[in-house]
Amino acid sequence: MSDSPTDPNASFQSVVVSGIQPSGTLHLGNYFGAIRQHIELHATVESYFFIVNYHALTTLHDAEALKKYSFDVALDYLALGFDPDKSHLFLQSDVPQVNELAWIFYTLTPVSQLEKGVSYKDKVAQGLPANAGLFNYPILQAADILVYGGTRVPVGADQKQNLEICRDLAIRFNDRFGQDAPVLPIPEPYILDEVAVVPGVDGRKMSKSYGNTIGIFDEGKTLKKAVMSIVTDSTPLEEPKDPETCNVFALIKLFADDAKREEVAAAYRAGGYGYGHAKKELLGLINETFAEARDKRRELEANPSYVEDVLREGGRKGREQAETYMERIREAVGLITTY
Ligand code: ADP
Repeated sequence: MSDSPTDPNASFQSVVVSGIQPSGTLHLGNYFGAIRQHIELHATVESYFFIVNYHALTTLHDAEALKKYSFDVALDYLALGFDPDKSHLFLQSDVPQVNELAWIFYTLTPVSQLEKGVSYKDKVAQGLPANAGLFNYPILQAADILVYGGTRVPVGADQKQNLEICRDLAIRFNDRFGQDAPVLPIPEPYILDEVAVVPGVDGRKMSKSYGNTIGIFDEGKTLKKAVMSIVTDSTPLEEPKDPETCNVFALIKLFADDAKREEVAAAYRAGGYGYGHAKKELLGLINETFAEARDKRRELEANPSYVEDVLREGGRKGREQAETYMERIREAVGLITTY
């Protein structure tokens, strides 16, 4: 709860919400750019983290894959330290109120605003079919946030525009339907720690659309192969090297503590330290960092009914919170319900 009298969210409880895409294996870019901060945050503020399977349907039409990816996200988050006693983890589709609110928001959104959507234009430019779901994606995202009365949304720089659409909708809704008292909070971005873009094995931004990822849970030969394939220049082993221009070092930096980072940087600069050595160092750091999470994930995989229970209970909490808001919203817009 804020104590500032001018804060538009002063009358709202502080609620963090965030959607996670179930569209493929989560990678180191996702981990350092988002998941690590999600895990920290969920333990300190009541948070609703949901696996956005409706959003995934805008680009994925493969039932088995969607089920698998959705469940995998739950396994990954739980293995990486998400504690269901601290916050809520669930499936977007377990809260039908989200789509109910999205419809109300459709009627408040000018088409011209959606036409300016950067991420819609990007996806169409990448060759994805321009379906209405993709076009209306920011509206469903706004409903995702506001149906729980979300006041804070962890975002990377790439999602700021969609959050603007959400804030506009909340303001427009309150202007039209909440003159006496605001019905919806105006969500604020919760800017995630500024993490440099994590490079993929080819040196471009690590992204599943570039096929250059190292999976968080890759191990053994798969992990070794990925690390060994990281692109480096051809400076001979004995010559000094600049760590700051090296993709391997960029990844080492993310894992290593200050002392280790300095030690490796000094070895680069001194010469006699090859990229093979650096890759071995990186492999060791990845294995060490995720050893516990890998064990936990194996345990969870062997116990899917526990994971389902977590999602079921999270969904129950999600519906409960969503219904509290939907009752106020239906009343505000004049939707009569007789059940
Ligand atoms: P992808 O590019 O693989 O499709 P997403 O767009 O699903 O990844 O990423 C989800 C979130 O993970 C992003 O909003 C961003 O915060 C983070 N993220 C993804 N890739 C990177 C990266 N290479 N470096 C830093 N953060 C990243």
